[in-house]
Amino acid sequence: MARIPVVVANWKMNKVEQEATLLARDVRGRLQGYDGVEVGLCVPYPFLHQVGLVLGGSRIGLGAQNVHWAEEGAYTGEVSAAMLASVGVRYVIVGHSERRRYFAEDDDIIKKKLERVVSHGMVPILCVGESLQERESGRAEEVVHAQLNGALSGFDAAVLQNPIVAYEPVWAIGTGVAASPTDAQQMHAFIRQWFRKRFGGEFADALRIQYGGSVKPDNAAALALQSDIDGALVGGASLDASHFCSIVSKFKTAKEG
Ligand code: PEP
Repeated sequence: MARIPVVVANWKMNKVEQEATLLARDVRGRLQGYDGVEVGLCVPYPFLHQVGLVLGGSRIGLGAQNVHWAEEGAYTGEVSAAMLASVGVRYVIVGHSERRRYFAEDDDIIKKKLERVVSHGMVPILCVGESLQERESGRAEEVVHAQLNGALSGFDAAVLQNPIVAYEPVWAIGTGVAASPTDAQQMHAFIRQWFRKRFGGEFADALRIQYGGSVKPDNAAALALQSDIDGALVGGASLDASHFCSIVSKFKTAKEG
């Protein structure tokens, strides 16, 4: 089945307002008239409104990097799914390894966040991935399996709708060392198989699974050629419009070819 590739930027905690506006404008300009790839920018909360204005009328989707799990209330400093939806957010990253690691987000929190995101009609990007130690001890699939079970237990397919999963091996994030296309493909096939068993063939065939972890213009094409790699979640390289748009075009070429 043909899945539309989806390439999403994760700017993390970078840029100030003027830089964010310029970067979004640059990406928009470079992708003028493109098609065949879905593109999103997950930007820091303070820039959502401004970047949303820059992207208005384009096909580039606005995204957030986090959300709180409660609907509303006394959670000083937090941001709700309703707030994100109200400023036009389409994608929300959930369960990024940096949040699991630095903010102690566990499966239960991730599951509650997913529920909140889908209940507000947004698309969650659920991140999973093993540490270096887990890979070296041969436990990578076991770890990803447990993360999927933990985040998605109790969901039914109709509620979940069209999520995106990002396979992001922790050892590849921000290190400059991406997973090999073969290793990434193997894990993506494993993830799709998990969804096939849990939600059925139609759901699994439609599911977009991104690879994330040191994706750059020079390794994107080889990753994009893999049959179960349907896009990329891009951190460092997304801070440079020409690098990010080059990755988008590598996915377009690979998937159309
Ligand atoms: C990420 O943190 O989602 C990521 C993929 O980062 P990088 O591309 O910098 O490895």
